[in-house]
Amino acid sequence: MASQNFQRAADILELKPDVRAMVLAPERVLTVSVPVKMDNGLITCFEGYRVQHNTTRGPAKGGIRFHPGVTLDEVKALATWMTWKCAVVDIPFGGGKGGVTCNPKKMSVAELERLTRRYTSAILPIIGPDRDIPAPDVYTNAQTMAWIMDTYSMTQGHLVQGVVTGKPIALGGSPGRNEATARGVFNTIECVSQHLKLKIKGSKVVVQGFGNAGSIVAHLLDGAQADVIAVSDSQGCIYDKNGLHIAKLMMHKERTGSVKDFPGSEPISPEELLALECDFLIPAALENSIDSHNAHSIRAKVIAEAANGPLTPEADAIVDAKGVFVIPDILCNAGGVTVSYFEWVQNTQHMAWDVNEVNSRLERVMHRSFAKVLEIHQERKVNMRTAAGVLAIDRVVEATMLRGLYP
Ligand code: GLU
Repeated sequence: MASQNFQRAADILELKPDVRAMVLAPERVLTVSVPVKMDNGLITCFEGYRVQHNTTRGPAKGGIRFHPGVTLDEVKALATWMTWKCAVVDIPFGGGKGGVTCNPKKMSVAELERLTRRYTSAILPIIGPDRDIPAPDVYTNAQTMAWIMDTYSMTQGHLVQGVVTGKPIALGGSPGRNEATARGVFNTIECVSQHLKLKIKGSKVVVQGFGNAGSIVAHLLDGAQADVIAVSDSQGCIYDKNGLHIAKLMMHKERTGSVKDFPGSEPISPEELLALECDFLIPAALENSIDSHNAHSIRAKVIAEAANGPLTPEADAIVDAKGVFVIPDILCNAGGVTVSYFEWVQNTQHMAWDVNEVNSRLERVMHRSFAKVLEIHQERKVNMRTAAGVLAIDRVVEATMLRGLYP
């Protein structure tokens, strides 16, 4: 998927095959074995990865994912997307990604800490504040980042805050980082609502995935008086035609671990959720959740991709033909890495910004990037995904050409 989307944008830029090959290949791929003593005394050997796709414009940047479905191919694709994502919003980072194939929902906190520290020491030779800077991703969080920072710092003999972003605020994390992916999604929805003359107030919203990004974007839209009529998570889907009470739903999820059985809501199937008539459909779960089987039923006006790669290329063609306006992942969810950049800047300058400064800088980056992608979409007559790809690849290729080939 990542390479199909790449080729389409590369065609528009008329890139030569050798240049394509050079910018598409990951620079460095590391597979590590991560033995962990489990609480029952036995050792389990997990497999972990860290991929640095491209560092032409700056250190590799991207999250670490703990999930049973993690594979090396997935991590490579996600690292590639990070390169384009950082280039779309024009922050001085390249793309990287890491992952460990494990099921964190079935592990204790102590097991997760041992896993994180051992994985960190295994990838230690290739990470660092000027080389490769991890961050949270699916099923990792600020606590995970604190363990990574501590493990790295212990080996250096001093505190190195800039080695990871998405840290707890007490350890040099940035205010606004936890909400940043969702806030960036919201900022792009503001842009599209202006562009399509679709009011957010009173609009109908469907959110697939109620994790960090999905729940907070639902909360922000609810605050802007949109009606979030349906949401889902890995355990169930719920619907309320009058709009769900998001603050209460967040507490319900916190308490029970799922959105399922939220009082006053109606259970629906994942197929029914996607087929709901709405203004904004926000896929905020894993990649490939919308494919050739379910894309036909979509009745949304706009799809805002809070997740990475939620639409397969087949699904993309289907929604395109229906005239759905797609805000592509590398633009839509770039708020997270943008505030990661702000966090790293604050760490390296030993200073702290307040949340208003972070949010207004983020809004400027998101609005500016959306405008740039929209301009390419209109000028080149390509869809928004290809337009975002054209912008990103052009920036990476320009940097590559200016640097020239070593040796
Ligand atoms: N995991 C997030 C993403 O996919 C954030 C990465 C980062 O902040 O480095 O964009």
